[in-house]
Amino acid sequence: MTTYLQVILPLPLEGTFTYRLPKEMEVRVGARVIVSFGKKKIYTGVVASIDQDSQETDYSAKPILDVLDEDPVVNALQLSFFQWMASYYMCTLGEVLNAALPASLKLSSQSFVAINPEIDVEDVDVSDREWELLRVLQRNDISVKEIGEMLQLKQPQQLLKKLAQKGLIDLYEKIKDKHTSKKIKRVRLNSDLLEGNQLELLLNELESKPKQQDVLLTYLRDVPILEDRSKNVDGIAKSSLISQDVSASSISTLIKRGILEAWDAPVSRFGAISSKDDSVVQLSEAQTESVRQIRTAFGQKSTVLLQGVTGSGKTEVYIELIKSTIKAGEQVLFLLPEIALTTQIVNRLQRVFGASFGVYHSRYSESERTEVWHAVHEQKINFVVGVRSAVFLPFSNLGLVIVDEEHEPSYKQFEPAPRYHARDGAIYLATLHQAKVLLGTATPALETYKNALDEKFGFVELTSRYGEAFEPSLFFANTLKERKQKKLKGNFSSSLVEALTQVLEKKEQAIIFQNRRGYAAYISCDNCATVPKCPNCAVSLTYHQFNNRLVCHYCGYNQAMYSDCLHCGSKELRQIGFGTEELEEELKLLFPAAIIQRMDLDTTRSKYSYHRIIEAFEEGDIDILVGTQMVSKGLDFDRVNLVGIFDTDRMIHFPNFRAQERAYQLITQVSGRAGRKSKEGKVIIQTQDPDQRLLQKIQTRDYRAFYQSEVLEREHFHYPPFSRMINITFKHREKQVSFQAANYYYHEVLKHFKGLRVIGPVEPMIGKIRNLYLHEITLKIPKGGNLTAIKESLKMVRKLLDAMPAFKSVGVVFDVDPA
Ligand code: ADP
Ligand code: ZN
Ligand code: ZN
Repeated sequence: MTTYLQVILPLPLEGTFTYRLPKEMEVRVGARVIVSFGKKKIYTGVVASIDQDSQETDYSAKPILDVLDEDPVVNALQLSFFQWMASYYMCTLGEVLNAALPASLKLSSQSFVAINPEIDVEDVDVSDREWELLRVLQRNDISVKEIGEMLQLKQPQQLLKKLAQKGLIDLYEKIKDKHTSKKIKRVRLNSDLLEGNQLELLLNELESKPKQQDVLLTYLRDVPILEDRSKNVDGIAKSSLISQDVSASSISTLIKRGILEAWDAPVSRFGAISSKDDSVVQLSEAQTESVRQIRTAFGQKSTVLLQGVTGSGKTEVYIELIKSTIKAGEQVLFLLPEIALTTQIVNRLQRVFGASFGVYHSRYSESERTEVWHAVHEQKINFVVGVRSAVFLPFSNLGLVIVDEEHEPSYKQFEPAPRYHARDGAIYLATLHQAKVLLGTATPALETYKNALDEKFGFVELTSRYGEAFEPSLFFANTLKERKQKKLKGNFSSSLVEALTQVLEKKEQAIIFQNRRGYAAYISCDNCATVPKCPNCAVSLTYHQFNNRLVCHYCGYNQAMYSDCLHCGSKELRQIGFGTEELEEELKLLFPAAIIQRMDLDTTRSKYSYHRIIEAFEEGDIDILVGTQMVSKGLDFDRVNLVGIFDTDRMIHFPNFRAQERAYQLITQVSGRAGRKSKEGKVIIQTQDPDQRLLQKIQTRDYRAFYQSEVLEREHFHYPPFSRMINITFKHREKQVSFQAANYYYHEVLKHFKGLRVIGPVEPMIGKIRNLYLHEITLKIPKGGNLTAIKESLKMVRKLLDAMPAFKSVGVVFDVDPA
C-alpha cells in the first residue's frame, strides 16, 4: 500500500506533480510539503489530493522530503477556487498559488551545508580554516550565511565549492519559515521596588538625576501602580513612555540599572470587539427600503446589483447587511478596488465594528498580511476588508461578498498571471460557499447592468443623495473657443478660474482631476519635430519638472532633460500636453495664497502617504487637491464644492472599446466628490466639444440612455457582453519573430475554429515594452460558444508553437476577458 500525493508547485507549469508519501510521514490535503524537483531544486508545494494505491510501489515517484503543516494552510474550498481560476484564466495552478499565498507562507529556500558523515576529520588534508569549519559541521549543519559570518568571509562559496569537490561536504536547500508575529518592547518596574519603602528611597536618590527621575515619574503617572500594584505586570509600551521630557536613552539607563525591566510582547493586530460607534447611524427611509429589497432579491438571486448615486450612502447599506451576516455566524468579504479608498471606509467601519475585522492590502507588510491569513483560517476574524487579492483568503463559511465600485478597472489584474477579475472571481467564490454577492456602484459596468436587466442579477436602486445634499450641477467649459479668444490661463478656462476664486473666498475646497501624471505629456522639437522616446518601449518620454527628467511610464527608464534637440540641436523644445504636475504649478501661480497638494503615483509611493494627504485634506489643511484617478474613488469630503475635470476628450477618444464606458464612469465618479454635504456642488468639465452625445448623457445623469446606445455599438461590433474576448500576446526581442509566431498561431487557430472571429496579428498601441516586441491576436467568442473546449484547444496550439525551434523563446500571454 503506497500513498501518492498530487502536489501543486509554484511554477508556471501545467498541472500537479506526483510524489510518494514516506511511511513515517502523515499529511493532509492543503498542507505544505517540501519536495525536490528536477536535479537540484527544492520547492514548497501544497498537497492538492491524496490517493492510496495497493499496487506495487512506483519508485519513479520521488518521496516528499518533509511536511510543513500539521494543520493545512489551504482549505478544500480554496483548492476548488484555485482550480477554477487556473482553468478560466488559462494559467497554471502554480501561478494562482503564487498570487494567493502571502510570501511568508510561500517560504524561501536557503542553502545549508552538511559534512559527509563518512569522512574522518582528523585524517583529511585541508587548510586550518577548512579544518575549523569541518569541526563545526560535525556538530550540526549550518547555513552558508552563517559560515560567511563565522569565517569572516564575504563570499564563502569559493571555499565551499572546493570542499564539495573533494567530497567532504554537501550543500542542500533548507526551507525557512519567514512568518514572525509582530512584537513590541514593553517596560515595567522591577517588582522588587514594589516592596516596603524601596520606591521612596529610589525617588530620593534620583533627585540628583533629573532625567532618570522624569522617566520614573512619567511611568508612575501613566501606569497607576500606586493605586493598584497589579497594574505593574503589563507595564507600558516603551514607545509610549517616550515624550518631550523622556528620552529613549534615559529609559535605557534605567533598564541597565535594573530599575526598569524590558521585554518583547507579541501583539495581535485584532483586538476583541471594542470601541463601538457611539454616534449610531439611523438609516434613511430610502436606505432601509434598499436593505429590504436587497434581502428579498437574495431570496431568488445570489448576486444583486445596488446602483446608488454617489453620496446616497451605500456604505450604510453595506454595514447593515454585514452586521446581520456576522450575526448569523457567517463570514463577510468586503472588496474595494484600490488602496486610496480604504482609509476612509476602514475608519467608518472601525467606528461600527471596532477592531474585529481584518484589512488585507498590498501596502501592508508581509507579516501583517500573514496575520490576517491565519486569523481568517483560525476563524478569529470573520470579516475582511481587502483589495483584489483578498479573494484568495482561507474563508470556510462565507455568507456575503460585497464588491464596492464594482465597475472599477483595477479589479482586473493585468500582470503577472493569473490575469483575473476580482469581481468575477468573487461571484464564483460565492457559489462555492453558497454565499450572496452585492455589487455596489453608481455607474455599473456594462456587463453587470445587462445582467441586471436580463434578471440574472437582482437589481436595487438608490436614486437620491443622503440627507439634504443634491447631486452637483455639471457645466462645460469650451476650451476650443476660449483658446481662440485667448481667454485660457495656461490650461485653465475662465469659468474654472472664476469658480476656484469663489470657492477659496468661501473657505471651501476644490478637487482638480487630470488623468495623467508628470508635467508635460511629451516634448517635441519645434524645428524638426523630434520627440524623445524610451529606448526600451515604443512610447514617448514624459517630462517631470520636479526633478527635471524625462521618464518612461511603462518601464521607469529615465534620463536628464536636455536643452538642445538631440536630432538638430535646436533649443526650441516645446512641451505638449500636460499632467498633474503642470496643473499644480499653474494653480500656484494663479492662486499664490492657496494651499495646493498633488495626489498621484509620484506623491504616494510610501505606505502612509495616501493617508496623510487624505487626512490633511479632511482637516482643511489643503485648499485644492490636484490628482489622477486616485481622487475619483469614493472619497467623501464635506467641504468640497467644486470639481474641475481636464482632458475629457482624450478619455472619450482613447482607442479602446470600453473608452466611452470608462469616460462615463470616471467623469461621474469624480463629479460625485462635489457637494456631498450641500446643495451647491459644482462640476466644471473642460472640453473642446461640449455637444458630444456622451457628455450630454453624463450631464443629465442618464445612465440608462448611455447604456442603450452603448450596448447597440457593442452588439454591432461583437464586443462583450455579446461575446467573450481572449487576447493573446506574443513577445520577442526580435520584431520579426514576434510577428511570425503570432501569424503562425493565428492560422492554426483558424484551422481549428472555422467561423470564429479572430483579429490580428496586430501590433498593439504600444508595440514594444521593456525591449520586447509585441504582437496580438484577439478572439471574439460568441455567447453560447464552448469556452472550455476553445481554451483547451488554444493551449494545445500553444504547445505546437513551443515545439517549433524558431518560436521556442517567444513569450505567450493569454488574457481572458481583457480590460
Ligand atoms: P456613497 O458610497 O453611496 O457615495 P457614502 O456611503 O459615502 O455614499 O455616504 C455619503 C455621505 O452621507 C457620508 O458622509 C455618510 O457618512 C453620510 N451618510 C449616509 N447615510 C447616512 C445615514 N443614514 N446617517 C448619517 N449619515 C449618513
Ligand atoms: Zn530638432
Ligand atoms: Zn520604457
